[in-house]
Amino acid sequence: AHLDRIAEVDNQTGAFLHVTGERALEQAKAIDDRRAAGEKLGPLAGVPLAVKDVFVTRGVPTTAGSKILEGWLPPYESTVSQRAQDAGLVVIGKTNMDEFGMGSTNENSAYKPAGNPWQLARTPGGSSGGSAAAVSAFEAPLALGTDTGGSIRQPAALTGLVGMKPTYGTSSRYGVIAFSSSLDTPGPIGRTVLDVALLHEAISGHDPHDSTSLDRPVAPIVDAARRGAADGIRGMRIGVVKELLGAGLEPGVRAEFERGLDALRELGAEVVEVSCPHFEYGVAAYYLIAPSEASSNLARFDSVRYGLRVGDDGERSLEEVMSLTREAGFGPEVKRRIILGTYALSAGYYDAYYGQAQKVRTLIARDFEAAYSQVDVLVSPTAPTVAYPLGKVNTDPLAVYLLDLTTLPASLAGTPAMSVPVGLADDPLEPGNQRLPVGMQIMAPELRDERCYQVGAALE
Ligand code: GLN
Repeated sequence: AHLDRIAEVDNQTGAFLHVTGERALEQAKAIDDRRAAGEKLGPLAGVPLAVKDVFVTRGVPTTAGSKILEGWLPPYESTVSQRAQDAGLVVIGKTNMDEFGMGSTNENSAYKPAGNPWQLARTPGGSSGGSAAAVSAFEAPLALGTDTGGSIRQPAALTGLVGMKPTYGTSSRYGVIAFSSSLDTPGPIGRTVLDVALLHEAISGHDPHDSTSLDRPVAPIVDAARRGAADGIRGMRIGVVKELLGAGLEPGVRAEFERGLDALRELGAEVVEVSCPHFEYGVAAYYLIAPSEASSNLARFDSVRYGLRVGDDGERSLEEVMSLTREAGFGPEVKRRIILGTYALSAGYYDAYYGQAQKVRTLIARDFEAAYSQVDVLVSPTAPTVAYPLGKVNTDPLAVYLLDLTTLPASLAGTPAMSVPVGLADDPLEPGNQRLPVGMQIMAPELRDERCYQVGAALE
């Protein structure tokens, strides 16, 4: 049924870069056979899964949304997509994304834009825009994304879905094409908090193949999602981050967020205002750290090891071939970040830029620690706006970067954060049109991911 749905609507949503139809049907059949043979299978067995094209999948094309990887067939499988399949999920395809995860609108995909199923001429968000569009358009019930600075939470918010960025180090980066290694975090996107909890639990846990993977037991997230729905959140203390309600927040988004806060109060939670004074420097710190790490990670695309190779005529030097390949293979945003990051890391500037950004990162983590000594979770709007029209903001990189204000603090601190739908708001540009989804971000202390589920399930 999902493959039929893809055939019907994917030329409009642009959610998939590659559909693995036959393989999926074979895998689904194998699961049916196991079930028929009396094997007791888990709750996700046979459920279709859309996988962001940044996860390497054995024998299935993987591009990270970039031309430089066109034609590459990975010889191995990422830990997270492997664990999902071990739980019985059936991969039905690889989803569209901003090139290497760099972007917030999916318009930086080297292949095609993706449309928001609520209004196709609008962005589904990014960088996991294809994953969000696929689930929102009922092309898949669940999807995997990655969140470096908001790329799971923001697309979930703009398409009316639930998206979760786990605690950094609890979902493996092995086989996830690297953007910014100290920030990259795989996680689930789905339609309900419980769906997302089930996938989150299936993909989590220590992985010896990832040197930053934490050797800690998986938080009881499925239980928390069920408990939140059953018992609510009576007595919980919830902090509203003052600094994340500032300039640029659309009045309609603010109104729906306030309605969400009212719902939390009605459920018996105590809602208080909290100040995190360094959050306003999150954008500046992130846009030094992420491009710096990216400039180093992307050095591996050298025309020799993977995919594209341009100008290799037997005459040109290796350096020329490398340079022609990188010029043809990378899009403008990727080049911008490589240049930014290379500059920020260069001798003489390292302390002034990268070093300074790392200090700000520590201050943001301390703001979180101080806040969590007073409250159980923090909340904010997930994104300052509803989904904007394609082509509107992506011409101005700085304007797009500023939209990440709300999601970046939890990324820099490595702490868990979820987006859950709280309502629909008018688009300020076209007030008479279809109202568009608004998400509430629920943030929790490191390794306390279950609190996001408890509050998210109560709110839902
Ligand atoms: N929008 C942010 C960026 O462009 C975050 C992207 C992400 O989380 N992968 O870097």
